[in-house]
Amino acid sequence: MHKTPAIVILGAASLPTARRIQRRYPQAPVYALQGRVEADIAYADFGATLRALYQSGTPIVALCAAGIVIRSLAPVLADKEQEPPVLAVAEDASAVVPLLGGLAGVNHIAREIAAIFGIEAAITTSGELRFGTCLLNPPDGYALADVEEGKRFVADLLGGEGVRVEGAAPWLAAARLPLREDAGRRIRVSCARGASADELLIHPRALVVAVEAGEAELAAKVRAALAAHGLAEAALAGLLAPMDAMSDAALGSAARELGVPLRFAERAAGETPADWLRRLLPLEERLAGDGLCIGRAAQPVEMARLGRARGRLSVVGLGPGAAELMVPAVRRALDEAEDILGYETYVNMAGPLRAEQVRHCSDNREELQRARHAFELAASGRRAVVVSSGDPGVFAMAAAVLEALEQSIDPLWHAVELEILPGVSAALATAALSGAPLGHDFCLISLSDNLKPWTVIEQRLEHAGAADLVMAFYNPISRARPWQLGRALEIVRGHRDPQTRVVLGRDVGRPAQALRSLTLGELTAEMVDMRTLVIVGSSTTRSFPRADGGDWVYTPRWYPPAGLAPRGESCEKARGDEAAPHHPSGESAT
Ligand code: SAH
Repeated sequence: MHKTPAIVILGAASLPTARRIQRRYPQAPVYALQGRVEADIAYADFGATLRALYQSGTPIVALCAAGIVIRSLAPVLADKEQEPPVLAVAEDASAVVPLLGGLAGVNHIAREIAAIFGIEAAITTSGELRFGTCLLNPPDGYALADVEEGKRFVADLLGGEGVRVEGAAPWLAAARLPLREDAGRRIRVSCARGASADELLIHPRALVVAVEAGEAELAAKVRAALAAHGLAEAALAGLLAPMDAMSDAALGSAARELGVPLRFAERAAGETPADWLRRLLPLEERLAGDGLCIGRAAQPVEMARLGRARGRLSVVGLGPGAAELMVPAVRRALDEAEDILGYETYVNMAGPLRAEQVRHCSDNREELQRARHAFELAASGRRAVVVSSGDPGVFAMAAAVLEALEQSIDPLWHAVELEILPGVSAALATAALSGAPLGHDFCLISLSDNLKPWTVIEQRLEHAGAADLVMAFYNPISRARPWQLGRALEIVRGHRDPQTRVVLGRDVGRPAQALRSLTLGELTAEMVDMRTLVIVGSSTTRSFPRADGGDWVYTPRWYPPAGLAPRGESCEKARGDEAAPHHPSGESAT
């Protein structure tokens, strides 16, 4: 199975069965209904969870009535070829019913689960029942040429036609096929394109194309070369390029376009692509194309064993904490990661992780060292992810990673595929909870003087105060920096009325989330700790009661025309005088 399945339960009675299935698939998390039963991942809505898993291609093992699963997935059952395996398992483990994903190996999983409990899987696919294998779902390393033709072919065999096998199909040895030497139908295993009538064509992924760097239209060229030699694109196992071409973006996009892995290997000076391929792979045939060379092996080629991959380093922001505030690109990077590096709290926040994903937890202060370690891993061909909370570019790891890269002269570090994926920063998450205090111009200031002189911080506070910017304070206070916040507030009070709105967000997006709305006059350093984000409003930031208690805080998009509100004038006054008349009509509300 390619993707880790999700085991989904509704009630506590299913948990023992779920855990036994999990022993067979140790990476698979058990999803349980929040408030009813506790397992690995809590969900709130069964239907929405099932649909989300289905749409992300995750195999689903649901411990409940088949009907519930069918009704939940009904709205999203459009594309049958893409569907992941979906099975219903009786909570007492007395029945296993494969429902969907025939072409993705659902019957195979059903048999594996049935074997755990010593029962028969409820297989209903005729071809599979008759022949003991799903002819339309060949094993890894092979691809069916045409599913629709394949269905007709299986129907013919079920109708009594005999079959012969041409080419190497070791997985069919155990099948119960109506084999006959003189049969009119054949199963053909070949890299050649174009199935004739009366045959089931299966392509072994046995072709490797050696390519050069800097080729324009590379994917089209590869396709044309394969076509010119009568070879099927589905038989392409991957592309091989010289080591020094690793950072060539065109190579990466060609491989993505063709949907195959791209690997790199040293090519000796003067070595022709054909000799190079032959040195690396036992080939049956080499075919030259327009500036490239196609090699055909006797067996499917395992690209993971050929040369090495271009390593990837993703520097990601997890958002404030809640899984739903993490952007999907970050979740994808985490799911694909081999190594995850970061401060322990954040590495734990990045879950669910699989057992084989290596966690490298380090202290919060060792940022440059962590960045260098990440490059070492990525430069060796691995997929490394460095995690930050919030956004990685806001007082976090992205700058440390770029600093480490700029200081390095190692070409392998510079060849790493580096990506920085954003997250919801604490100021944005806190602002959203309280309303829209950052609705007008604002600045983000870290009050930590670990990496910058305190005098710089004081100057910035003076200027931000004078400019009437809304301010969001990160790293406001810590045991090692006990007095700085008090001093910062003194400076701000020199520019702001005591009625100025203040918002404190603590552990936003985490279970202990607490939000507080108050005035600058009421704010004391004791109300704040290092898990708090402080927003101090501008002269125009205002608040009003919300119907469900507490209040909404926002900074209007417009500004009093006279420029800065005079110091000492209260927000109440400004509100009365200025609110409605100056609301501009031409501006969009985005
Ligand atoms: N990269 C992070 C900020 C790291 S600096 C981001 O973009 O959010 C660490 C500071 O961020 C903390 O001292 C605190 O002020 C703030 N912070 C981070 N996560 C927070 C959260 N969930 N709730 C409130 N403040 C948070």
